[in-house]
Amino acid sequence: MKRCALFLPVIAVLACFGFCFSSCGSSTPSDAAIRKNTTNAARWLKGCSRISWLPRQVSGRYDGASAFDNIHQAAAGYAAKRSSYGTAPGGYVRLNSRMLRAMRDLAKRGYSFRVTSIAGASHSSDSSHYVGVAFDVDTINGQRISYGNPHWRRFLERCRELGATETKGPGDRGHSTHLHAAWPRQYYYQK
Ligand SMILES: [Zn+2]
Repeated sequence: MKRCALFLPVIAVLACFGFCFSSCGSSTPSDAAIRKNTTNAARWLKGCSRISWLPRQVSGRYDGASAFDNIHQAAAGYAAKRSSYGTAPGGYVRLNSRMLRAMRDLAKRGYSFRVTSIAGASHSSDSSHYVGVAFDVDTINGQRISYGNPHWRRFLERCRELGATETKGPGDRGHSTHLHAAWPRQYYYQK
């Protein structure tokens, strides 16, 4: 009986720990769960015929950090490669899962589009591309981005509905021929 009385508090403490861990786990997704989300979304995107991925930088460079390279790296469960020229810092970054899921939503809504940059290329210093939360698009539904393109405003509006907090397009400096959409930086995961 005495031994039993000793064990009871131990069991109670263990049960309490177990409850705490399981409840914490359910309220805040773990890094592993977020990475799985990212990988699954990237796999879906890689196989989606509505989205094409520029296989080189807009500048013409082939450096293993194109939009095509980045989506394949993310689909394989790896961090995405950044470029190493201009202001680009080099190295690798985990792509943001909300951004990838937003791309999936846009494709499911019927948009076809070409992604020209994710983590690669040289952008303004401190660009959101370098932390894996931004993507650029130069074509929607077969039409290149310009002020007169009938799709870009609604496309960016949908990005904002899906959580993008930084959107640029025709009318914004440096964005007359491409769109830029970025998500909050607290979601980025550095390798
Ligand atoms: Zn951009």
